Amino acid sequence: PGTQLPFDSTKKTIVVLGSGWGATSLLKGIDTTEYNVVVISPKNYFLFTPLLPSVAVGTLSPRSILQPTRYVTRHKTREVAVIEADAHAVDPVKKTVTFSDDSEIRGLSSSTTISYDYLVYAVGAEVQTFGIPGVQEHACFMKELEHAEKFQRRFMDCVETAGFPGQSPEEVERLLHMVVVGGGPTGIELSGELHDWLKDDLAHWYPELSDRIRISLVEALPSVLPMFSKQLIDYTVSTFKESKIDVLTQTMVKEVKPNSVILQMPDKSLKEVPCGLVVWAGGNKGRKITVDLKAKVPGQTNPRGITVDDHLRMVGTDGIFAIGDCTSTSYAPTAQVASQQGAYLARVFAQIAKKTSLEARISELETKTPAAANEEERKANAKELDAAKKSAELVAIRPFHYSHQGSLAYIGSEKAIADLPFMNGNIASGGVATFLFWRSAYLSNLFSLRNRTLVANDWWLTQLFGRDVSRN
Ligand code: FAD
Ligand code: NAD
Repeated sequence: PGTQLPFDSTKKTIVVLGSGWGATSLLKGIDTTEYNVVVISPKNYFLFTPLLPSVAVGTLSPRSILQPTRYVTRHKTREVAVIEADAHAVDPVKKTVTFSDDSEIRGLSSSTTISYDYLVYAVGAEVQTFGIPGVQEHACFMKELEHAEKFQRRFMDCVETAGFPGQSPEEVERLLHMVVVGGGPTGIELSGELHDWLKDDLAHWYPELSDRIRISLVEALPSVLPMFSKQLIDYTVSTFKESKIDVLTQTMVKEVKPNSVILQMPDKSLKEVPCGLVVWAGGNKGRKITVDLKAKVPGQTNPRGITVDDHLRMVGTDGIFAIGDCTSTSYAPTAQVASQQGAYLARVFAQIAKKTSLEARISELETKTPAAANEEERKANAKELDAAKKSAELVAIRPFHYSHQGSLAYIGSEKAIADLPFMNGNIASGGVATFLFWRSAYLSNLFSLRNRTLVANDWWLTQLFGRDVSRN
């Protein structure tokens, strides 16, 4: 009869929205002994986003960077309910979440509302398009697994279409011009991976076309990768120059058409540039459910996301914790931040459980002590009560503290850049050694041995046989 909720009415219920970096890190660390835990997410898996651009060009196969959420929850002390559904509304006053199964196959029951004692709000963000005409209709994105798969199909379609008999030189040039919008890490990594695919594989399989493939990276700001040091920005730009990737800074995409993009050039003139494919990596914005939730809570006016206090509690609500890309904090919206916040919340719930059980024991002893049968029992109760009170006082829930482990990005041609905090200073490094460090860092960050094995195997297979150029 489907999942029964909650499992134990004597325990508090934690509802977790999302199965991304923040939620998965929480689920890994949480002790479920004292809680009913329910996870609601439209994806029944965790996606390792840092390696998504590698999937887009076929270096890795999609399943290698997915981990089913049930693989994480199955080892927990008490059963965790994992529900594949989209949450549509949170009522912060009644403390309920309404969700529905929006997938292709739906049963007779496909929408319901449940109550929570604690809500971990970790729904991430969606792609920011700034309402620019044509982006939603004509561009590809690079945020979800299906985006990487769609990109791969469309890219190969452009290449095959360019090879169709009788295609004019202008049309070939258009079809083989790839425009990446956004000089943040997503746009940079995708351009680098695309270059590798071109150089390592397409040059062999499409020798007549590969020389004509062009990659342009368009960035509205004066520089790409503003979060990296100047030295590493310069290194990236010079590597891209060698790789024949055109970097157009201070250039803004104003419209995306089916066969072209309209660019506002640095001198403010508009230019229509023909292209076969546009990939939009223009940043993040809040999801609709987040915008709606904020509108229900007085004071939640920050347009960048949910405002939380230093314990990650959503300001103005009772029982809601918000983590990751859906929040607006002083930290960048990164996996590193979201996963540290998830791990922190797991510790917070352990402390809350400890305090709750001590408080229950204290109230039990307080009623028991005066009615004790004899002096000996009364003394023993009083002693235990004293110790329990002292322990309860010691249960402190410390504020969240973020520890930055550094920034890493792959820039193609087996080169990566790294800004690493070290001995109160910073190490900026780029090159092949950094690339090997990048690979080992990402491999060790993958959540399971299974995924590490799959990714390492894919790297080895790509080295041996090259990337697949079939279009599925
Ligand atoms: P997410 O990981 O996006 O998870 C959100 C979850 O919520 C998903 O499971 C989603 O399915 C679910 N969800 C969505 N809507 C609903 C709903 N209505 N109801 C319930 N659940 C919902 N960061 C780094 O630190 N290092 C990197 O190298 C790096 N590389 C990246 C590469 C790419 C291509 C991208 C796109 C991002 C990268 N990031 C990187 C950023 C990082 O992925 C995000 O900061 C991180 O995913 C944020 O975690 P999160 O848990 O907040 O959101
Ligand atoms: P971003 O916000 O970092 O960059 C988006 C870029 O697009 C901005 O520089 C913006 O100026 C540009 N842009 C927006 N609209 C434009 C337009 N119309 N024309 C031209 N340029 C336009 O977005 P992202 O790269 O997707 O990254 C999102 C978050 O994920 C960031 O916090 C980032 O640090 C993180 N991330 C980290 C890594 C890594 O550490 N390797 C990789 C990917 C993403």
